[in-house]
Amino acid sequence: MKEKLLSLTHSGETPEKYFHAVTPPVFLTSLHIYDRFEDYADADILKEDEYIYGRDANPTVSILERKIAELEHGSKALAFSSGMAACTAAIMATCRAGSHIICMKDVYQPVTHFLNCFCVPKLNMTVTYVSGNDLDEVEDAMKQKADLMILESPATFVFRVVDLKQIAKLAHRYEVKTYIDNTCMTPLFQNPLDYGIDIVMHTMSKYIGGHSDIIGGVLVSKDQELMDRIQTQMREWYGGILGPMEGWLAIRGLRTLYARMMQLQDTALKVAEFLEKNEKVVRVYYTGLESHPQRDIILKQQKGHTSLMSLILDATVEQSIKFLDDLKLFGKGCSWGGFESLALMPLYKATEEELTQRETKRQLIRLYCGLEGADNLIEDLEVALKKL
Ligand SMILES: *Cc1c(COP(=O)(O)O)cnc(C)c1O
Repeated sequence: MKEKLLSLTHSGETPEKYFHAVTPPVFLTSLHIYDRFEDYADADILKEDEYIYGRDANPTVSILERKIAELEHGSKALAFSSGMAACTAAIMATCRAGSHIICMKDVYQPVTHFLNCFCVPKLNMTVTYVSGNDLDEVEDAMKQKADLMILESPATFVFRVVDLKQIAKLAHRYEVKTYIDNTCMTPLFQNPLDYGIDIVMHTMSKYIGGHSDIIGGVLVSKDQELMDRIQTQMREWYGGILGPMEGWLAIRGLRTLYARMMQLQDTALKVAEFLEKNEKVVRVYYTGLESHPQRDIILKQQKGHTSLMSLILDATVEQSIKFLDDLKLFGKGCSWGGFESLALMPLYKATEEELTQRETKRQLIRLYCGLEGADNLIEDLEVALKKL
């Protein structure tokens, strides 16, 4: 953690270039001008500190990218206008028409929508969904040749984890590229590139931004050739670079990331332990609990825990909705990662098929613990549980 704290606060910055300002400027510029035409013509966007046009690269965004690359132990990071823009860029850069993709069943829903409703019908791709826990199942899928495996660990909803080292080992054997959504771990609590995963994605709209005021995403990898290709083909040509103001806000978010994550995981553990002991709660899904069925994998690869968790009450869908409405400190809204606590039933409108695939119930409640403190959140939950 020692080096990481420096990446969050100082590294990647060059104050001597900006009048020694402690905070870097927001480079609100769409282009860079040169005195000599040949200097302009020879500028190379793939080189550090060479800029031509704001869709290729931006100096404020580059500071953020240097920090993220360091934090995730990659050689290069690229920021996009959203997490989904980063995710789809990674898919498009590693796959082609007709590609076979292996995807974990419980990844972030819009990713499966993109695969099922765009990649399959429009680009003739095929997708094999796996739990990610049965390595024989993963290997069988890889034997059918695949270009990409999409992972998320811990994954949305039931916080399943997968053994990143084992999966990366198989993927290297079968020459399958691996991609992971590492958003809920932040670069502080899990570094998948260290385990042999090829591409890491973070939605900066969540913990990295940290204040519920930006949308942004970032990819990072050790594979320089792949990242240069993504910068040209997927960012310059598809055009989804992060804006300079969002880049600046993400840099600011990073400065306090460690402090926030320490409080958040402490709060979440207290909340999860409180819920687990309540007789009206059937099940709590949280990676920090000793009762998590995959505790051995968690201890091996995670250095900390998210403040997201799910629970199932001893209640119907309607009673669970009333419970949500009885919560006063938890706003009813999607997203997470900011200062404010949130609660919702993410699968309320899911199809029966989707519920079966995700191995859970419609009344699953997801809680995001914010920065209001464990005592306040537990008090709020206690009142709502008593009314149940
Ligand atoms: C929010 C979220 C995304 C998508 O990020 P956007 O910036 O909204 O596109 C992807 N993965 C996870 C786990 C998320 O929570």
